[in-house]
Amino acid sequence: MAFAITQTCCADASCVSVCPVNCIHPTPDEPDFGTTDMLYVDPATCIDCGACADACPVDAIFPAGDLTGPLKVYEEINAEYYAGRDILAEATVAPNFHRWSPPEFGRVLPSDFAALDVAVVGTGPAGMYAVEDLLLHTGSRVTLIDRLATAGGLIRYGVAPDHPSTKKIGETFARFHDHPRLRLRLGVEAGPELAARHDAVIYAVGATEARRLGVPGEDLPGSLPAAAVVGWYNGHPDAAPVDLSAERVVVVGTGNVALDIARILTADPGSLAGTSLAPAALARLRSSKVREVVVLARRGPEDAAYTRPELLELAARGNLVVDAHDPRIGAAIDGGDEKAALLRGLPREVVEWSAPPPDGRRVVLRFHSSPVAFTGDTEIRGVRATGPAGEVEIPAGRVVRAAGFRGAPVPGLPFDPGTGTVPNTAGRVEPGTYVAGWIKRGPSGGIGANKACARETVGSLLEDAIAGRLRIRRRARIFGRAPAVRQRS
Ligand code: SF4
Repeated sequence: MAFAITQTCCADASCVSVCPVNCIHPTPDEPDFGTTDMLYVDPATCIDCGACADACPVDAIFPAGDLTGPLKVYEEINAEYYAGRDILAEATVAPNFHRWSPPEFGRVLPSDFAALDVAVVGTGPAGMYAVEDLLLHTGSRVTLIDRLATAGGLIRYGVAPDHPSTKKIGETFARFHDHPRLRLRLGVEAGPELAARHDAVIYAVGATEARRLGVPGEDLPGSLPAAAVVGWYNGHPDAAPVDLSAERVVVVGTGNVALDIARILTADPGSLAGTSLAPAALARLRSSKVREVVVLARRGPEDAAYTRPELLELAARGNLVVDAHDPRIGAAIDGGDEKAALLRGLPREVVEWSAPPPDGRRVVLRFHSSPVAFTGDTEIRGVRATGPAGEVEIPAGRVVRAAGFRGAPVPGLPFDPGTGTVPNTAGRVEPGTYVAGWIKRGPSGGIGANKACARETVGSLLEDAIAGRLRIRRRARIFGRAPAVRQRS
């Protein structure tokens, strides 16, 4: 019986390196690794050793035969990835596919390499992968800083509370908080003194600003950035309560965050009790008037930004409807496109927006429809959106802007307002100053993508250290003792 990878896969590839028969793909050195929704076990090659399940930081891997309920489909999803693939032919374009990769030798540091004092700003995945790399592969001492009083960043305040397996990766990261060479400082704003007190600083501060839509009414009260809603249900200290007195909420965007918000707002509150959902948010959801969440997508179902596991989870709840207002939508779903085909079997209806939402709670996916304006005088009353027969008015009491994130300027660092990132080369802003995660590469890729990203950044930092480009100082006051640093000139 083979193993299978399921819904919560974070694609950080911890499983790939432990598989004795190289049957988990795509691997980080294969072409589709950067774009895949998840990794897959080849059932024909798996020898059922279970090593991957032990290594998985989010408990996403199980014996395929043990899968039940909504996870059952993942046995087929894993097998499908390999079905019909001519392994040998594919190996000519992706040489590592089903073959052992060429031997890789990790970084080699000089035998006299000095221990570094490095500050890492941000306790989310990118920061923690950088910390892990520094602590496990160098003798560095790390000062880990977060402006919030609770560590965890995106894992704590961004991952949906009803995804406990995904949140579990936070435990993997947290084991470094007590490392003897790590000093954790929470509730501290990063300032210029960091650079003066450390050999290098890595900023892994994420990207939490909502991408602006550029439509009239965007700033009306009741128009909320996705981070405000996600922060609210995750108990972020800066998040204000979200008013749920409206019957309909429109979410603009089709990424996983948009679907998370739609799922939480339409869930049976009883099913959320016992999750990490903030108690105040749960109380508000219990008295929520929201009956319908409309997910508004500019493009068609073949171009939706959500991942397959996220859509399957929402569809499995049985309250997902496709607005069939545009004939292109049905054609795409019934055609050959793999992504659009995920919507096969879901109810389709042409939604009459002037009518109130039906009883119960549901999510409506409306594709090929862009917001033209958010309407209302003193607060949001609806969204005017495009359609094949002209614009329609979708009455709504709240609008959530979930069409992407962007980074905010970091004091003292250069900033590219076009991309919302800190300009860098392989994570290096300048010798001694580095970035990792979304503030480095933009808001793309899930948790696992930060592993390779952080590794690249740490690689640049070590390269600079070896080349003598860092200003190494002795800072007995930081660690209360003179660090064992061999001075480099
Ligand atoms: Fe590889 Fe063993 Fe996992 Fe099968 S069970 S995918 S052989 S690590």
